Amino acid sequence: MSLPRKELFDLPEGVIYLDGNSLGPMPKCVPARLAEVAEQEWAGELIKGWNSCDWMGQPARVGDRVAGFIGAPKGSVTMGDTLSIKVFQALSAALEMRPERKVILSDTGNFPTDLYMAEGLIALKDAGYELRLVEPEKVAEAIDESVAAVMLTEVDYRTGRKHDMVALTEAIHAAGAVSIWDLAHSAGAVEVDLEAAGCEFAVGCTYKYLNGGPGAPAFIYVRPDLIDTVQPALSGWLGHRAPFAFELGYAPGDGIERMRIGTPPVLQLSALEAALSVWEGVSMSEVRAASISLSETFIREVEARCPELTLISPRDALQRGSQVSFAFEHGYAAMQALIARGVIGDFRAPNVMRFGFTPLFLEERDVLAAVDILEEILSTRAWDQPEFMTRSRVT
Ligand SMILES: *Cc1c(COP(=O)(O)O)cnc(C)c1O
Repeated sequence: MSLPRKELFDLPEGVIYLDGNSLGPMPKCVPARLAEVAEQEWAGELIKGWNSCDWMGQPARVGDRVAGFIGAPKGSVTMGDTLSIKVFQALSAALEMRPERKVILSDTGNFPTDLYMAEGLIALKDAGYELRLVEPEKVAEAIDESVAAVMLTEVDYRTGRKHDMVALTEAIHAAGAVSIWDLAHSAGAVEVDLEAAGCEFAVGCTYKYLNGGPGAPAFIYVRPDLIDTVQPALSGWLGHRAPFAFELGYAPGDGIERMRIGTPPVLQLSALEAALSVWEGVSMSEVRAASISLSETFIREVEARCPELTLISPRDALQRGSQVSFAFEHGYAAMQALIARGVIGDFRAPNVMRFGFTPLFLEERDVLAAVDILEEILSTRAWDQPEFMTRSRVT
């Protein structure tokens, strides 16, 4: 089976879903697997399930599956918590590796929670650390020998601009700093080769392109040569060398296990594990090629037919992730009007209409149909209605 494989997804009739970059749709196999885990494993096995169903091994097992999407070897990725927490963990471990340096470098395109977590860590350490933010284009020149860690998100959530991970990691290492890459908009969207990039840490979430469902756990990667020496700041019992020895003092576990914290989210991990089956038999290079083709069609058609919108994503496909963003003064209302007509994208303040391209369930005719509806909404000003102006809690 090749692309698209829409029949594997449960999508409402008549919806064109251009928001798989924010919350992936549900693969049809997930509910049955969740019911099985609830009814047979949880209800049937009770606490025995930790062993008999290997719930305890789930973070490593699913981590190995996720590793395949990001060019990481088996045993270098574990699952759990949310991405914000994994950012904190990776960053604190990175700072421990360069205790004499006090600068964390990031860019103004980074996702706010990554920056907030850095601020929180700096306040907690209370040791003169500084979070230095530069524009995304200025990162390379800002890396100097004062920098302990460079923390970047490969694909900008707002514009889709994609950093050159290999080149920047090389520059980070040349300055003696540690690299942390956030792959939230990369895993399942673009080809990632962590082994080739050589970065020390990578983190990401699984509810976006990997379709793990709302609240699906995050992942963390540690470069294999560091895995047995990094200091996990969040020293929970399941990252302990021997959790069931119940020792009074913490001793980090072997390998990537030390990046675990507490009890794994078994139901969410089961949903994710089942959801990953939709990728069977397709390579990331095929997905990337199809995503570029869909994105190029979208840009070409929107620019030809919707002059009100301004492209803010890079025009060069190789410098973009798997999303395309347009600025429009009335972007919020226009997006609500689109959603009311079954074309679901999203909006990011102050004026960004964001569209994700996910070739597992989208094809060219969906993109063309979406542009037809967008053109109609703009040319008739159908968005100019009070019902489309009220902002919801989540945009
Ligand atoms: C989606 C996203 C997050 C979300 O973090 P959670 O803790 O899972 O809510 C964080 N960082 C980036 C770059 C993201 O794109």
